[in-house]
Amino acid sequence: MTIHEDIAAPVLIVGAGPGGCMASFELSRLGIPHVLMDKALFPRDKVCGDALSGKVLDALQASRPSVVDELKKLPDLFQPSPGIRFFGPNGKYIDVPCPDRRDGLTAGYVAARQGFDHLLVRHLDAHLCTFYQGAGHLAFGHENQVSFMVGNRQYMAKPQLVIGADGALSATAAHRGLRRVHKGHHSAAVRAYFQGVVGFEKNFIELHFIKELLPGYFWVFPLPNGGANVGLGMLSANIAKHKVNLRALLEKTIAHHPALSQRFAQARLLGPVRGWGLPLGSVKRTISGDGLLLVGDAAGLIDPFTGEGIGNAFQSGQMAAQWAFKALHANDFTGKFLQGYDKQVYQHLWPELKLSHRIQKLSSIPWLFNFLLNKAAGNPNLRNTMTAMFANVDLRAKLKSPWFYLNLVRGK
Ligand SMILES: Cc1cc2nc3c(=O)[nH]c(=O)nc-3n(C[C@H](O)[C@H](O)[C@H](O)COP(=O)(O)OP(=O)(O)OC[C@H]3O[C@@H](n4cnc5c(N)ncnc54)[C@H](O)[C@@H]3O)c2cc1C
Repeated sequence: MTIHEDIAAPVLIVGAGPGGCMASFELSRLGIPHVLMDKALFPRDKVCGDALSGKVLDALQASRPSVVDELKKLPDLFQPSPGIRFFGPNGKYIDVPCPDRRDGLTAGYVAARQGFDHLLVRHLDAHLCTFYQGAGHLAFGHENQVSFMVGNRQYMAKPQLVIGADGALSATAAHRGLRRVHKGHHSAAVRAYFQGVVGFEKNFIELHFIKELLPGYFWVFPLPNGGANVGLGMLSANIAKHKVNLRALLEKTIAHHPALSQRFAQARLLGPVRGWGLPLGSVKRTISGDGLLLVGDAAGLIDPFTGEGIGNAFQSGQMAAQWAFKALHANDFTGKFLQGYDKQVYQHLWPELKLSHRIQKLSSIPWLFNFLLNKAAGNPNLRNTMTAMFANVDLRAKLKSPWFYLNLVRGK
Protein backbone atom coordinates (compact mmCIF):
# COMPACT_ATOMS: atom_id res chain seq x y z
CA MET A 1 0.00 0.00 0.00
CA THR A 2 1.36 3.44 -0.94
CA ILE A 3 1.36 6.06 1.81
CA HIS A 4 1.14 9.68 0.61
CA GLU A 5 2.93 12.43 2.47
CA ASP A 6 3.13 16.17 1.74
CA ILE A 7 6.39 18.04 2.20
CA ALA A 8 6.30 21.71 3.05
CA ALA A 9 9.68 23.33 2.42
CA PRO A 10 10.43 26.42 0.35
CA VAL A 11 13.45 24.85 -1.36
CA LEU A 12 13.97 21.32 -2.70
CA ILE A 13 17.36 20.12 -3.94
CA VAL A 14 17.45 17.19 -6.37
CA GLY A 15 20.75 15.29 -6.09
CA ALA A 16 23.16 15.00 -3.15
CA GLY A 17 26.48 14.98 -5.01
CA PRO A 18 28.94 17.85 -4.41
CA GLY A 19 26.65 20.48 -6.03
CA GLY A 20 23.57 19.47 -4.03
CA CYS A 21 25.42 19.03 -0.73
CA MET A 22 27.14 22.39 -1.08
CA ALA A 23 23.79 24.08 -1.87
CA SER A 24 22.44 22.44 1.31
CA PHE A 25 25.44 23.51 3.44
CA GLU A 26 25.04 27.10 2.28
CA LEU A 27 21.22 27.12 2.72
CA SER A 28 21.77 25.88 6.28
CA ARG A 29 24.37 28.57 6.90
CA LEU A 30 21.78 31.11 5.74
CA GLY A 31 19.10 29.59 8.03
CA ILE A 32 16.82 28.32 5.23
CA PRO A 33 14.94 25.03 5.81
CA HIS A 34 15.03 22.72 2.80
CA VAL A 35 14.65 19.19 1.49
CA LEU A 36 17.46 17.28 -0.24
CA MET A 37 16.71 14.03 -2.09
CA ASP A 38 18.86 11.54 -3.98
CA LYS A 39 17.97 8.34 -5.77
CA ALA A 40 21.12 6.62 -4.46
CA LEU A 41 21.78 5.14 -1.05
CA PHE A 42 25.04 6.47 0.37
CA PRO A 43 27.85 5.50 0.31
CA ARG A 44 27.65 5.21 -3.49
CA ASP A 45 30.26 5.33 -6.25
CA LYS A 46 30.46 8.18 -8.77
CA VAL A 47 32.69 7.81 -11.84
CA CYS A 48 35.34 10.51 -11.39
CA GLY A 49 39.10 11.09 -11.28
CA ASP A 50 38.64 11.85 -7.55
CA ALA A 51 41.02 14.84 -7.64
CA LEU A 52 40.09 17.69 -5.29
CA SER A 53 41.62 21.10 -5.99
CA GLY A 54 42.16 24.15 -3.80
CA LYS A 55 38.82 25.49 -5.04
CA VAL A 56 37.08 22.54 -3.37
CA LEU A 57 38.91 23.11 -0.09
CA ASP A 58 38.18 26.87 -0.15
CA ALA A 59 34.45 26.30 -0.65
CA LEU A 60 34.33 23.78 2.19
CA GLN A 61 36.24 26.15 4.48
CA ALA A 62 33.66 28.86 3.74
CA SER A 63 30.43 26.84 3.95
CA ARG A 64 31.15 23.68 6.00
CA PRO A 65 34.56 23.78 7.75
CA SER A 66 33.64 20.69 9.82
CA VAL A 67 34.21 18.61 6.65
CA VAL A 68 37.76 19.96 6.44
CA ASP A 69 38.36 19.16 10.11
CA GLU A 70 37.30 15.56 9.49
CA LEU A 71 39.31 15.33 6.25
CA LYS A 72 42.49 15.86 8.29
CA LYS A 73 41.65 12.77 10.36
CA LEU A 74 41.04 10.44 7.41
CA PRO A 75 44.44 9.57 5.86
CA ASP A 76 43.01 6.31 4.48
CA LEU A 77 40.55 8.31 2.37
CA PHE A 78 42.41 11.52 1.46
CA GLN A 79 45.74 11.28 -0.38
CA PRO A 80 47.51 14.66 -0.21
CA SER A 81 48.75 15.66 -3.67
CA PRO A 82 50.83 18.84 -3.87
CA GLY A 83 50.99 19.27 -7.65
CA ILE A 84 50.40 18.14 -11.22
CA ARG A 85 52.77 16.41 -13.66
CA PHE A 86 51.90 17.11 -17.31
CA PHE A 87 53.24 14.64 -19.88
CA GLY A 88 53.35 15.85 -23.49
CA PRO A 89 52.74 13.64 -26.53
CA ASN A 90 56.53 13.14 -26.76
CA GLY A 91 56.64 11.66 -23.23
CA LYS A 92 58.46 14.68 -21.72
CA TYR A 93 56.91 16.21 -18.65
CA ILE A 94 56.81 19.31 -16.53
CA ASP A 95 55.90 19.46 -12.87
CA VAL A 96 53.51 22.10 -11.67
CA PRO A 97 53.73 22.21 -7.89
CA CYS A 98 50.76 24.06 -6.41
CA PRO A 99 51.43 26.77 -3.84
CA ASP A 100 51.12 25.85 -0.16
CA ARG A 101 47.89 26.87 1.57
CA ARG A 102 47.68 29.09 4.61
CA ASP A 103 45.39 26.68 6.50
CA GLY A 104 47.97 23.89 6.73
CA LEU A 105 46.20 21.70 4.16
CA THR A 106 48.01 20.34 1.12
CA ALA A 107 47.17 22.17 -2.14
CA GLY A 108 45.11 19.23 -3.44
CA TYR A 109 43.90 15.74 -2.50
CA VAL A 110 42.71 12.60 -4.21
CA ALA A 111 39.80 10.86 -2.47
CA ALA A 112 37.54 8.14 -3.88
CA ARG A 113 34.13 9.73 -4.44
CA GLN A 114 32.40 6.88 -2.64
CA GLY A 115 34.03 8.04 0.61
CA PHE A 116 34.16 11.77 -0.16
CA ASP A 117 30.47 12.11 -1.08
CA HIS A 118 29.50 10.01 1.93
CA LEU A 119 31.49 12.40 4.12
CA LEU A 120 29.54 15.31 2.60
CA VAL A 121 26.11 13.81 3.32
CA ARG A 122 27.21 12.96 6.86
CA HIS A 123 27.82 16.69 7.40
CA LEU A 124 24.33 17.85 6.32
CA ASP A 125 22.63 19.94 8.97
CA ALA A 126 19.82 17.76 10.37
CA HIS A 127 18.02 20.82 11.84
CA LEU A 128 17.45 22.58 8.53
CA CYS A 129 17.94 19.85 5.94
CA THR A 130 15.55 16.92 5.59
CA PHE A 131 17.46 14.34 3.58
CA TYR A 132 15.81 11.49 1.66
CA GLN A 133 18.13 8.92 0.08
CA GLY A 134 17.15 5.91 -1.99
CA ALA A 135 14.44 8.21 -3.39
CA GLY A 136 13.19 6.97 -6.77
CA HIS A 137 10.46 7.77 -9.29
CA LEU A 138 11.22 11.48 -9.42
CA ALA A 139 8.38 13.18 -11.30
CA PHE A 140 7.50 16.80 -12.06
CA GLY A 141 4.01 18.26 -12.33
CA HIS A 142 2.60 21.73 -12.91
CA GLU A 143 3.85 24.77 -10.98
CA ASN A 144 6.97 23.17 -9.49
CA GLN A 145 5.17 20.11 -8.15
CA VAL A 146 7.68 17.36 -7.46
CA SER A 147 7.03 13.83 -6.26
CA PHE A 148 9.27 10.89 -5.41
CA MET A 149 9.08 7.54 -3.66
CA VAL A 150 11.05 6.16 -0.75
CA GLY A 151 10.01 2.57 -0.13
CA ASN A 152 6.21 2.58 -0.15
CA ARG A 153 5.92 6.29 0.71
CA GLN A 154 5.16 8.80 -1.96
CA TYR A 155 6.32 12.31 -1.11
CA MET A 156 4.65 15.31 -2.75
CA ALA A 157 6.24 18.77 -2.63
CA LYS A 158 5.47 22.14 -4.14
CA PRO A 159 8.58 24.16 -3.32
CA GLN A 160 9.00 27.75 -4.39
CA LEU A 161 12.41 26.83 -5.71
CA VAL A 162 13.93 23.61 -7.07
CA ILE A 163 17.72 23.37 -7.20
CA GLY A 164 18.65 20.82 -9.88
CA ALA A 165 21.90 19.17 -8.76
CA ASP A 166 21.26 15.81 -10.40
CA GLY A 167 24.39 15.63 -12.51
CA ALA A 168 25.25 15.11 -16.16
CA LEU A 169 21.98 13.31 -17.00
CA SER A 170 19.88 15.82 -15.04
CA ALA A 171 16.18 14.92 -15.20
CA THR A 172 15.44 18.33 -13.69
CA ALA A 173 17.13 20.16 -16.58
CA ALA A 174 15.60 17.78 -19.14
CA HIS A 175 12.10 18.39 -17.79
CA ARG A 176 12.52 22.12 -18.56
CA GLY A 177 14.14 21.52 -21.95
CA LEU A 178 17.50 22.79 -20.63
CA ARG A 179 19.57 19.61 -21.12
CA ARG A 180 21.23 19.63 -24.52
CA VAL A 181 24.32 17.60 -25.33
CA HIS A 182 26.66 19.55 -27.61
CA LYS A 183 29.23 16.96 -28.82
CA GLY A 184 31.93 19.62 -29.22
CA HIS A 185 31.35 20.72 -25.62
CA HIS A 186 31.04 17.30 -24.06
CA SER A 187 33.56 14.59 -23.16
CA ALA A 188 33.21 10.95 -22.26
CA ALA A 189 35.62 9.10 -20.01
CA VAL A 190 36.27 5.73 -18.40
CA ARG A 191 37.70 5.16 -14.95
CA ALA A 192 39.23 2.17 -13.16
CA TYR A 193 40.78 1.59 -9.74
CA PHE A 194 44.12 -0.20 -9.51
CA GLN A 195 46.36 -1.45 -6.73
CA GLY A 196 50.12 -1.52 -7.15
CA VAL A 197 50.83 1.06 -9.89
CA VAL A 198 54.44 2.13 -9.35
CA GLY A 199 56.48 5.21 -10.26
CA PHE A 200 54.54 8.06 -8.64
CA GLU A 201 56.81 10.89 -7.64
CA LYS A 202 55.92 13.37 -4.89
CA ASN A 203 52.33 12.03 -5.11
CA PHE A 204 51.61 14.43 -7.96
CA ILE A 205 48.54 13.71 -10.06
CA GLU A 206 49.59 12.85 -13.62
CA LEU A 207 47.95 13.94 -16.87
CA HIS A 208 49.34 12.15 -19.94
CA PHE A 209 48.48 13.97 -23.16
CA ILE A 210 48.85 11.01 -25.53
CA LYS A 211 48.61 11.95 -29.22
CA GLU A 212 45.54 9.88 -30.10
CA LEU A 213 43.52 11.30 -27.19
CA LEU A 214 44.16 15.01 -27.76
CA PRO A 215 42.75 17.30 -26.50
CA GLY A 216 41.77 14.62 -23.95
CA TYR A 217 44.22 12.73 -21.77
CA PHE A 218 45.04 9.58 -19.81
CA TRP A 219 45.35 10.09 -16.06
CA VAL A 220 46.94 8.29 -13.14
CA PHE A 221 46.11 9.74 -9.73
CA PRO A 222 47.60 8.33 -6.51
CA LEU A 223 45.23 7.13 -3.78
CA PRO A 224 46.10 6.15 -0.19
CA ASN A 225 47.68 2.76 0.58
CA GLY A 226 49.08 2.09 -2.89
CA GLY A 227 45.81 2.60 -4.79
CA ALA A 228 45.39 4.58 -8.00
CA ASN A 229 42.53 6.12 -9.95
CA VAL A 230 43.25 5.56 -13.65
CA GLY A 231 41.28 6.60 -16.69
CA LEU A 232 41.07 8.40 -19.98
CA GLY A 233 38.69 10.85 -21.54
CA MET A 234 38.13 12.39 -24.97
CA LEU A 235 35.87 14.91 -26.62
CA SER A 236 32.60 13.20 -27.59
CA ALA A 237 32.86 14.70 -31.09
CA ASN A 238 36.22 12.92 -31.61
CA ILE A 239 34.94 9.65 -30.13
CA ALA A 240 32.06 9.69 -32.61
CA LYS A 241 34.26 10.78 -35.54
CA HIS A 242 36.92 8.10 -34.99
CA LYS A 243 34.53 5.46 -33.54
CA VAL A 244 36.71 5.08 -30.43
CA ASN A 245 36.10 2.36 -27.85
CA LEU A 246 37.34 4.01 -24.64
CA ARG A 247 37.58 0.80 -22.61
CA ALA A 248 39.65 -0.89 -25.32
CA LEU A 249 41.87 2.19 -25.58
CA LEU A 250 42.42 2.19 -21.81
CA GLU A 251 43.45 -1.47 -21.87
CA LYS A 252 45.72 -0.88 -24.87
CA THR A 253 47.41 2.12 -23.25
CA ILE A 254 48.07 0.26 -20.02
CA ALA A 255 49.41 -2.80 -21.83
CA HIS A 256 51.47 -1.17 -24.59
CA HIS A 257 52.36 2.46 -23.84
CA PRO A 258 56.19 2.49 -23.69
CA ALA A 259 56.46 4.26 -20.32
CA LEU A 260 53.14 3.46 -18.68
CA SER A 261 53.06 -0.31 -19.35
CA GLN A 262 56.11 -0.85 -17.11
CA ARG A 263 54.43 1.00 -14.27
CA PHE A 264 51.36 -1.26 -14.54
CA ALA A 265 53.29 -4.53 -14.91
CA GLN A 266 52.50 -5.70 -11.35
CA ALA A 267 49.27 -3.70 -10.90
CA ARG A 268 45.89 -5.32 -10.17
CA LEU A 269 42.57 -4.00 -11.48
CA LEU A 270 40.01 -3.56 -8.70
CA GLY A 271 36.38 -3.75 -9.79
CA PRO A 272 34.87 -2.81 -13.14
CA VAL A 273 35.95 -0.14 -15.64
CA ARG A 274 33.11 2.38 -15.61
CA GLY A 275 32.23 5.23 -17.98
CA TRP A 276 30.40 8.53 -17.61
CA GLY A 277 29.89 11.84 -19.44
CA LEU A 278 31.34 15.30 -18.77
CA PRO A 279 29.23 18.31 -19.86
CA LEU A 280 31.96 20.89 -20.43
CA GLY A 281 31.60 24.55 -19.54
CA SER A 282 33.03 25.74 -22.86
CA VAL A 283 29.63 27.05 -23.93
CA LYS A 284 27.21 29.24 -21.98
CA ARG A 285 23.90 27.59 -21.16
CA THR A 286 20.62 28.76 -19.62
CA ILE A 287 20.86 27.52 -16.04
CA SER A 288 17.72 28.91 -14.44
CA GLY A 289 13.99 29.21 -15.09
CA ASP A 290 10.78 29.89 -13.20
CA GLY A 291 11.38 28.48 -9.71
CA LEU A 292 14.51 26.66 -10.89
CA LEU A 293 18.28 26.87 -10.54
CA LEU A 294 20.74 24.33 -11.96
CA VAL A 295 24.14 23.65 -10.40
CA GLY A 296 27.27 21.59 -11.14
CA ASP A 297 27.07 19.08 -13.98
CA ALA A 298 23.33 19.72 -14.39
CA ALA A 299 24.40 23.25 -15.38
CA GLY A 300 27.35 21.99 -17.53
CA LEU A 301 30.21 23.67 -15.68
CA ILE A 302 33.14 21.24 -16.02
CA ASP A 303 36.52 22.80 -16.89
CA PRO A 304 37.08 21.93 -20.59
CA PHE A 305 40.86 21.52 -20.28
CA THR A 306 41.34 19.75 -16.95
CA GLY A 307 37.95 17.99 -16.58
CA GLU A 308 37.66 19.37 -13.06
CA GLY A 309 34.01 19.75 -12.04
CA ILE A 310 33.74 19.40 -8.27
CA GLY A 311 35.07 22.91 -7.56
CA ASN A 312 32.57 24.50 -9.96
CA ALA A 313 29.75 22.31 -8.61
CA PHE A 314 30.63 23.64 -5.15
CA GLN A 315 30.82 27.27 -6.26
CA SER A 316 27.56 27.13 -8.24
CA GLY A 317 25.92 25.33 -5.26
CA GLN A 318 26.95 28.21 -3.01
CA MET A 319 25.65 30.80 -5.48
CA ALA A 320 22.35 28.92 -5.94
CA ALA A 321 21.77 28.93 -2.18
CA GLN A 322 22.53 32.66 -2.05
CA TRP A 323 20.03 33.26 -4.87
CA ALA A 324 17.46 31.16 -2.98
CA PHE A 325 18.00 33.52 -0.04
CA LYS A 326 17.54 36.58 -2.29
CA ALA A 327 14.41 35.13 -3.95
CA LEU A 328 12.84 34.29 -0.59
CA HIS A 329 13.46 37.80 0.68
CA ALA A 330 12.14 39.43 -2.50
CA ASN A 331 9.36 36.80 -2.69
CA ASP A 332 10.20 36.58 -6.38
CA PHE A 333 10.85 33.17 -7.95
CA THR A 334 10.28 34.18 -11.55
CA GLY A 335 12.68 33.17 -14.28
CA LYS A 336 13.35 36.85 -14.88
CA PHE A 337 14.52 37.44 -11.30
CA LEU A 338 16.55 34.22 -11.23
CA GLN A 339 18.41 35.14 -14.42
CA GLY A 340 20.62 37.08 -12.01
CA TYR A 341 21.97 33.67 -10.94
CA ASP A 342 23.09 32.82 -14.51
CA LYS A 343 24.72 36.20 -14.72
CA GLN A 344 26.61 35.78 -11.45
CA VAL A 345 27.74 32.22 -12.21
CA TYR A 346 29.15 33.21 -15.60
CA GLN A 347 30.62 36.48 -14.34
CA HIS A 348 32.54 34.42 -11.84
CA LEU A 349 33.40 31.30 -13.87
CA TRP A 350 33.39 32.34 -17.53
CA PRO A 351 36.88 33.95 -17.70
CA GLU A 352 38.41 30.71 -16.43
CA LEU A 353 36.17 28.45 -18.55
CA LYS A 354 36.81 30.49 -21.67
CA LEU A 355 40.54 30.40 -21.14
CA SER A 356 40.52 26.66 -20.46
CA HIS A 357 38.58 26.22 -23.71
CA ARG A 358 41.33 28.09 -25.59
CA ILE A 359 44.01 25.97 -23.94
CA GLN A 360 41.98 22.84 -24.71
CA LYS A 361 42.02 23.84 -28.39
CA LEU A 362 45.77 24.60 -28.33
CA SER A 363 46.49 21.30 -26.60
CA SER A 364 44.97 19.40 -29.52
CA ILE A 365 48.05 20.43 -31.54
CA PRO A 366 50.72 17.82 -30.65
CA TRP A 367 53.73 19.74 -32.01
CA LEU A 368 52.81 22.84 -29.97
CA PHE A 369 52.50 20.75 -26.83
CA ASN A 370 55.85 19.05 -27.52
CA PHE A 371 57.47 22.39 -28.33
CA LEU A 372 56.37 23.89 -25.00
CA LEU A 373 57.49 20.88 -22.98
CA ASN A 374 60.84 20.64 -24.83
CA LYS A 375 61.48 24.30 -24.10
CA ALA A 376 60.37 23.94 -20.48
CA ALA A 377 62.56 20.88 -19.90
CA GLY A 378 65.73 22.88 -20.63
CA ASN A 379 64.66 26.23 -19.24
CA PRO A 380 64.04 26.65 -15.50
CA ASN A 381 62.67 30.19 -15.99
CA LEU A 382 60.05 28.98 -18.43
CA ARG A 383 59.20 26.07 -16.08
CA ASN A 384 58.62 28.56 -13.28
CA THR A 385 56.50 30.78 -15.54
CA MET A 386 54.36 27.82 -16.58
CA THR A 387 54.02 26.68 -12.98
CA ALA A 388 52.79 30.14 -12.02
CA MET A 389 50.46 30.13 -15.03
CA PHE A 390 48.64 27.00 -13.92
CA ALA A 391 48.29 28.30 -10.41
CA ASN A 392 47.10 31.73 -11.52
CA VAL A 393 44.32 32.37 -14.03
CA ASP A 394 45.57 35.84 -15.04
CA LEU A 395 49.01 34.51 -15.85
CA ARG A 396 47.42 31.56 -17.68
CA ALA A 397 46.03 34.09 -20.15
CA LYS A 398 49.61 34.45 -21.46
CA LEU A 399 49.34 30.97 -22.98
CA LYS A 400 46.90 32.24 -25.58
CA SER A 401 49.08 35.17 -26.62
CA PRO A 402 51.07 34.74 -29.86
CA TRP A 403 53.84 36.86 -28.27
CA PHE A 404 54.40 34.21 -25.65
CA TYR A 405 55.29 31.67 -28.35
CA LEU A 406 57.22 34.15 -30.46
CA ASN A 407 59.43 35.00 -27.50
CA LEU A 408 59.98 31.32 -26.85
CA VAL A 409 61.12 30.75 -30.45
CA ARG A 410 63.45 33.72 -30.06
CA GLY A 411 64.77 32.07 -26.89
CA LYS A 412 63.55 34.79 -24.55
C1 LIG B 1 35.55 10.14 -15.64
C2 LIG B 1 35.40 11.45 -14.92
C3 LIG B 1 36.50 11.97 -14.25
C4 LIG B 1 36.37 13.17 -13.54
N1 LIG B 1 37.42 13.61 -12.78
C5 LIG B 1 37.28 14.68 -11.99
C6 LIG B 1 38.28 15.05 -11.07
O1 LIG B 1 39.29 14.37 -10.92
N2 LIG B 1 38.10 16.17 -10.33
C7 LIG B 1 36.97 16.91 -10.43
O2 LIG B 1 36.87 17.94 -9.75
N3 LIG B 1 35.98 16.57 -11.27
C8 LIG B 1 36.09 15.47 -12.04
N4 LIG B 1 35.05 15.07 -12.84
C9 LIG B 1 33.81 15.85 -12.84
C10 LIG B 1 33.01 15.57 -11.56
O3 LIG B 1 32.83 14.19 -11.39
C11 LIG B 1 31.65 16.26 -11.64
O4 LIG B 1 31.83 17.57 -12.14
C12 LIG B 1 30.97 16.35 -10.28
O5 LIG B 1 30.65 15.07 -9.79
C13 LIG B 1 29.69 17.19 -10.38
O6 LIG B 1 28.98 17.17 -9.17
P1 LIG B 1 27.38 17.27 -9.19
O7 LIG B 1 26.97 17.32 -7.77
O8 LIG B 1 26.96 18.35 -10.10
O9 LIG B 1 26.86 15.93 -9.87
P2 LIG B 1 27.06 14.40 -9.43
O10 LIG B 1 28.32 14.23 -8.68
O11 LIG B 1 26.85 13.60 -10.66
O12 LIG B 1 25.86 14.15 -8.41
C14 LIG B 1 24.55 14.07 -8.87
C15 LIG B 1 23.71 13.35 -7.82
O13 LIG B 1 22.34 13.40 -8.29
C16 LIG B 1 21.75 12.13 -8.08
N5 LIG B 1 20.69 11.96 -9.07
C17 LIG B 1 20.81 11.86 -10.41
N6 LIG B 1 19.60 11.73 -10.99
C18 LIG B 1 18.70 11.73 -10.00
C19 LIG B 1 17.28 11.60 -9.95
N7 LIG B 1 16.56 11.41 -11.06
N8 LIG B 1 16.65 11.64 -8.74
C20 LIG B 1 17.39 11.80 -7.62
N9 LIG B 1 18.73 11.92 -7.59
C21 LIG B 1 19.38 11.89 -8.76
C22 LIG B 1 22.89 11.12 -8.24
O14 LIG B 1 22.61 9.90 -7.56
C23 LIG B 1 24.07 11.89 -7.63
O15 LIG B 1 24.22 11.60 -6.27
C24 LIG B 1 35.16 13.88 -13.56
C25 LIG B 1 34.05 13.36 -14.26
C26 LIG B 1 34.17 12.15 -14.94
C27 LIG B 1 32.97 11.58 -15.65
